[in-house]
Parts: sequence; C-alpha cells; structure tokens
Amino acid sequence: MVETSRQADIGVIGGSGFYTFLDDVTEITVETPYGAPSDSLVLGDIEGRRVAFLPRHGRKHHLPPHRINYRANLWALRSLGVRQVFGPCAVGGLQPEYGPGTLLIPDQLVDRTKARTQTYFDGEPLPDGRIPNVVHTTFADPYCPVGRKAAVEAARGRDWEPVDGGTMCVIEGPRFSTRAESRWHAAQGWSVVGMTGHPEAVLARELGLCYTSLTLVTDLDAGVETGEGVTHTEVLKVFGENVGRLREVLFDAVGKLPESSTRDCLCTHAHDGWDLGIELP
Ligand SMILES: [Zn+2]
Repeated sequence: MVETSRQADIGVIGGSGFYTFLDDVTEITVETPYGAPSDSLVLGDIEGRRVAFLPRHGRKHHLPPHRINYRANLWALRSLGVRQVFGPCAVGGLQPEYGPGTLLIPDQLVDRTKARTQTYFDGEPLPDGRIPNVVHTTFADPYCPVGRKAAVEAARGRDWEPVDGGTMCVIEGPRFSTRAESRWHAAQGWSVVGMTGHPEAVLARELGLCYTSLTLVTDLDAGVETGEGVTHTEVLKVFGENVGRLREVLFDAVGKLPESSTRDCLCTHAHDGWDLGIELP
C-alpha cells in the first residue's frame, strides 16, 4: 500500500536528548480523539528514514509516568504514518548482574500498573461518534521480533553488548519500589523494573505498530542493592552518562528496520479476524 500523506515512518518515544542534535527538524502539533500527546512531535531524518520523536514526559518533563496520555501518544504517531516504534526508557536492575549501564532489550513484560487505560477498544464512543468494538488483542509476545533484532545488532555494532531478552516489570509509580516489592519482583526472575513500558507496548500492538523497548539500567533496585535505595539523582546521573551512546544505538537501529510496507511480523497480525469497529488513523 502506498501512502503519500506519510510524514514519518518510524517513531521514537523518549527524551529530547535523542533529537536535539539533528539538523533540519520540523516540529508538529498533533491532536487525537484521546486528547493531546505529551508534547509536540519533532520530525527528522536518520539513515534516510523519516523519524518522529515524541518526548514521553513532555519537553519540560512535567508528566509523571501515571499521567502520560499513552493513548494519545501512540495514536498521534500512527496518524503521522509511523508503523515502527522504539521506546527507550530508564529502568532499575532486578538482578545483581544487571548493574548501571546495562542495556537490556526485553522480550516479555509484566504489568503491575494499577490505574491506566490500556485499550482503544473498550466500546466507548469517540468524540466524533464512532464506536470501537470490544477487542481482545493477542499479546503473548509483547515486542516486535524484527525491531528487537535491529536493536540488539545495533548495540553490538557499537561495542555495547546488550542483554538480549528478559522481563520488564512495569509499576505504577511515581514512587520507587519498597525493598519487599523489589525482592518479590527479583524472586520472580524478572529482569528490570520501570514505570512507562506499559501500556505503551500494548497500545502500540492495538494499533498494529511494531514496538521495541530499549531499557537502560540506571540503578540496582531497592531489593538488590545494599545502600539507601533508588534515588532520582542517581538515575539522572547514569542516564546522562549513557544517553549519547544510547542515541547512537537507536539511530543505527532505525537504519536496520525494514521498510514498513514489507512488514509481516506478528505485530501486523494481532487483529486478524477481528472487526475493530473503527478505522485506524
Ligand atoms: Zn513487528
């Protein structure tokens, strides 16, 4: 299918650290039936691909994880033509071997959030009167295998051996875990803990988008480390030290993605046999 109105092909949901150094960027404001996304989007070219950047927490970092309008964010990206998304995020390591500076590309997630809307298909009418059907989306494998492979190869190409696979536990936040919660998460064998990976991944899947999470460990979580527990200062410091090479890996990964029109991964088949009731943007 040829889509001439496309403004972007690939989306990156992450901080402004990823695009502030690009030349020739265009800023664009997008509205959705679910309200405004976290901020205006920035369009730029990487490796010959058109990429839309969206700062997940807003440019002033004013949105805590539980107040991000995830539905608007993913809808906005899709409405621009985006079909493949990278979602880099900072996480805590739940196993001692995943210390600060570890790059882990998860292949599973556990939802421990409590109060987030995680579907477009709840039978509630949109502002324009259209009514999405109730749909149960296949989500056994929450991440795109093609995007994951691109991310892993990109990291290796930059001599940053990533952890290929693992489970991200997503908590409601905005507080960090207690030691007991953290020990429990670790005892389940889960790998990392974050606050934004859900419902981002499932909403992407509901829109038929390929979604790949790149998690950067900024600290060992409370149950694993022996000090005073996670502090925000520590998180910011480690993120700052690694944002440059994470950007390099992301940009290389963008160049390794297939043309969106050729996709045939599981992400494109999540709704086979379903009548969604609405046209996706
Ligand atoms: Zn995919």
